[in-house]
Amino acid sequence: MPYYIAYGFVRGACCHKHRSAIAAERCARKDDRACRRHYGRSAYSDRQPTRVTGEPEQYHRERLTEDARRAVDVEAAGA
Ligand SMILES: [Zn+2]
Repeated sequence: MPYYIAYGFVRGACCHKHRSAIAAERCARKDDRACRRHYGRSAYSDRQPTRVTGEPEQYHRERLTEDARRAVDVEAAGA
């Protein structure tokens, strides 16, 4: 069963298994705010909503397509 995480090369993966890309996007934005709170105004999180498939040991991370990302942005902004 694929799921979504907020993942960034620097920040790593969040500890959740989100059921939707939108939930993962919200999680990434939360992490972005947390970075600013802890490290100052110019800090940011590089986490992005990421689709995960496969077994935990060898899971496959997949960036969202441009279209999927745009849809997520629109929904997350309206939430
Ligand atoms: Zn998360």
